[in-house]
Amino acid sequence: MERHKKSSVEGQELKNHIIEFCEGRGADLVGFAPVERWDDAGEVPPDFRPRTLWPSARTVIVIGLEMPLPIVETTPSVLHMELYRTANRKLDTLAYDLTRHLNRMGHASFFFGRDVYASLKALRDAPMAAFSHVMAAKYAGLGTIGVSRCLLTAEFGPRVRFVSVFTAAVVPPDPLVEKELCIKCELCCRCCPKKALTMRDDSIVGDCNKMACLEMAEDLTRRGCYPCGVCTKVCPIGKDRMLYKQKDIQKKYLEEAKALAANPDDPEYKSWTHIRKYGLTKEKPAPVSKTGEDGKKEEA
Ligand code: SF4
Ligand code: SF4
Repeated sequence: MERHKKSSVEGQELKNHIIEFCEGRGADLVGFAPVERWDDAGEVPPDFRPRTLWPSARTVIVIGLEMPLPIVETTPSVLHMELYRTANRKLDTLAYDLTRHLNRMGHASFFFGRDVYASLKALRDAPMAAFSHVMAAKYAGLGTIGVSRCLLTAEFGPRVRFVSVFTAAVVPPDPLVEKELCIKCELCCRCCPKKALTMRDDSIVGDCNKMACLEMAEDLTRRGCYPCGVCTKVCPIGKDRMLYKQKDIQKKYLEEAKALAANPDDPEYKSWTHIRKYGLTKEKPAPVSKTGEDGKKEEA
């Protein structure tokens, strides 16, 4: 292929090619959003929309990777932290590879990295991402935003992470998910260790006390086991739950904090607490560095 020469692959053929490229490299979800959706919806401030970030952008390709439930359930743990880091690294690599591939095909592209901030202090000063992958995933038809302000997908609920590739190519869009996936069960609010989430009567998307959520992230970062992600752990939405076949799991989530406060060795929670005990910083806290999206709660 002659580098940067406009390929004749366009439209649906290009879309199929991109899906095959991403799935062949391990993507679990791929969706396509025309940039006009940001303008039509008017939910995202103009400075944070794709065309402001890159005027040539015509389509945003959103790639998602599953966060396997049994690991998310151990949060806060080093195991969960490693999963989070691995997913982020893989997403950035996938987006980088797709960007270069599209550029070689003559479709100008660039990707917006997974976690783009220097430190938790930076988030404290300005608790907002320059670009929201959550909103991009919604506009790419991958799901709807729940009370927890996470993107809920039919496949994995909120246990999925996203990255976005902007391209100048016009690619047929995916339809938006019409039916809200959040059932307002309130589990995310009730289980949040900081009580940072609250339901709203006038919308599905809840309110988030970002500073309380950030405090949790800072605490976990000092202990070397960020991010929190309890709200993604407990959400009942997602077909992944059928795979793992858990009985009475919601009761177990709801009672966890109280049960472990009464007995840290409660046998009911042994499989999670065993993993939490090992690999953490105990003597000398690690310096506060980066945490994840769960800590910063992107703007909806
Ligand atoms: S836990 Fe319940 S209320 Fe919270 S986002 Fe999931 S479905 Fe919605
Ligand atoms: S990530 Fe934040 S909002 Fe979600 S449960 Fe943890 S502290 Fe609460």
